[in-house]
Amino acid sequence: MTQPKSEIRIPERRIPLYSEVDVLVAGGGPSGVAAALAAARNGASVLLIEQRGYLGGMATVSQVPAFCPYTDQVKPVIRGIGLEILNDMKCNMEETFRKDWQDMLDWVPIDAEVLKRVLDDKMMEAGVQVLYHTFVGDVLHKDGCVEAVIIHNKSGTQAVKGNIYIDATSDADITYLAGGQLLKGGENGELQPGTMCFVLTHLDRSQFLSSVEVHGKDLKHAIRQAKEEGRLHVAREWAGISWLNNHTAGLNFGHVFGIDGSNAEDLTRGAIQGRALAAHITEWLREAIPGFENAFLTLTGEQVGIRETRRIVGDYTITADDFMACRSFSDDIARNAYFIDIHMAKPTSGMTMIHLPAGESHGIPYRSLLPAGIQNVIVAGRSISTDRATQGSARVMPNCFAMGEAAGTAAAMLRENGSNETRSIDVSALQSRLVRQGAWLGEALNELYLEQA
Ligand SMILES: Cc1cc2nc3c(=O)[nH]c(=O)nc-3n(C[C@H](O)[C@H](O)[C@H](O)COP(=O)(O)OP(=O)(O)OC[C@H]3O[C@@H](n4cnc5c(N)ncnc54)[C@H](O)[C@@H]3O)c2cc1C
Repeated sequence: MTQPKSEIRIPERRIPLYSEVDVLVAGGGPSGVAAALAAARNGASVLLIEQRGYLGGMATVSQVPAFCPYTDQVKPVIRGIGLEILNDMKCNMEETFRKDWQDMLDWVPIDAEVLKRVLDDKMMEAGVQVLYHTFVGDVLHKDGCVEAVIIHNKSGTQAVKGNIYIDATSDADITYLAGGQLLKGGENGELQPGTMCFVLTHLDRSQFLSSVEVHGKDLKHAIRQAKEEGRLHVAREWAGISWLNNHTAGLNFGHVFGIDGSNAEDLTRGAIQGRALAAHITEWLREAIPGFENAFLTLTGEQVGIRETRRIVGDYTITADDFMACRSFSDDIARNAYFIDIHMAKPTSGMTMIHLPAGESHGIPYRSLLPAGIQNVIVAGRSISTDRATQGSARVMPNCFAMGEAAGTAAAMLRENGSNETRSIDVSALQSRLVRQGAWLGEALNELYLEQA
């Protein structure tokens, strides 16, 4: 946070208690939606609070255009609620899209508008109470226990009490406000860059594909050449293009550097620079790339896409060594097969990418979701307890769905037991329930719990 020049004192005041629920979920990204659904389907009363007017997180807020792989290149690793949402999105998309993608699980393009509606419907079906346009801005806490969160919206400032609080804000806001231990970025404070993703229409996909075939030159080649000639100002010779149909694509192209997504001034700078970069890239694509001559910049993200901010210090911190060794843990609640994918913190530094062999994955233990010293908060999503390298892998959306499903299921089970102590859970009962719900925790655990079922 920027150092305040001076301070003012807010007088003590009484505020309304908006709601009291079993499970309060803050943040409606992949981890938050899966957490809310899992908790509600397991019988808990759930309030999901989201600062935007829709769910989906980076996919809808920042127009991130594709889901990372659900598989380890051999089999699906992310199943359960994450797979259900992917399939429901596909079913609601255009027929041409369905034909191309119905059997695919890796790098499936995201139709943000379809995803928003699918998630609205799912919340209503499951009986999750959703409150949009609402920000969790403060926390009342005592002796490592959160007593209420303070929310701000058009109706004013109110409080919500929960038995368990799921922090799916991706910046670990609840943990931060509750005085939890946090880390941010690398040793020198370096952070992965942001990207202002955008949507282009009036494209000609067939022309684009045939031109690549005829000239044998791909986009990377064109980007490199334009950079050398000073016509294109991007740091990396790569663009993610996700085609939604033959004339519409989402683009993950270009970086905005030096943005800390947990700082409002940085987010503002990221928005301004990101929009300017998206317009510049569109202009270049129109001039240089066959099939993009009529490109129309329809939409940029509501917020610059943020890859990295705070990570909690949890009961266990997953390390790069765990990743490389494909380590399993006795309290695994999900598995991750995505590669370490750390985007450069500065325009001049390089990307770090480390892949696991096909068919391999590592475990994500329940303990890495528990912020050290805090009793009734479970963290899910990109801010769980990992080292920086592993954050560069675990952060992607399919993993966030799986972590969220585990967090929500655990929260509902704690309520069944009349406990708000996250560490009191019977981990094998949680694993068994996750497997029966359709999650995949690895061959051994899935066989064990399915045999017992
Ligand atoms: C540019 C970019 C490209 C990426 N590419 C891919 C990709 O191709 N495929 C992939 O799978 N992943 C990709 N990722 C990673 C992925 O999108 C995110 O890491 C993932 O969405 C994180 O999920 P989450 O649930 O932790 O949080 P988010 O998706 O960040 O969602 C958090 C939600 O919480 C809300 N929120 C935050 N704070 C508060 C608060 N205090 N009160 C109320 N609401 C709050 C936000 O509005 C948001 O909706 C990319 C990320 C970026 C930025």
